[in-house]
Amino acid sequence: MNEGNFEYRAAQKELLEAINQLRDLHGEPPYNELPEPPFCSFCGRSKKEMGALVEGINAHICVDCAGEARRLLLRD
Ligand SMILES: [Zn+2]
Repeated sequence: MNEGNFEYRAAQKELLEAINQLRDLHGEPPYNELPEPPFCSFCGRSKKEMGALVEGINAHICVDCAGEARRLLLRD
């Protein structure tokens, strides 16, 4: 993908805003720029921060979000 492309930059900005909204929900400080991928698709924290991420089809999940998902799934 061409990084000078306007649509690419707009998509990057949109992704950064979405990740910062997730980070805000989790009480994490916002990123100034996109972290180096991969990052958790649920909370936006990067592999560098979390140490490890589980990879799915077009998504990743960190240990905290996997634990939260497990609690939600087992609740009922
Ligand atoms: Zn996460």
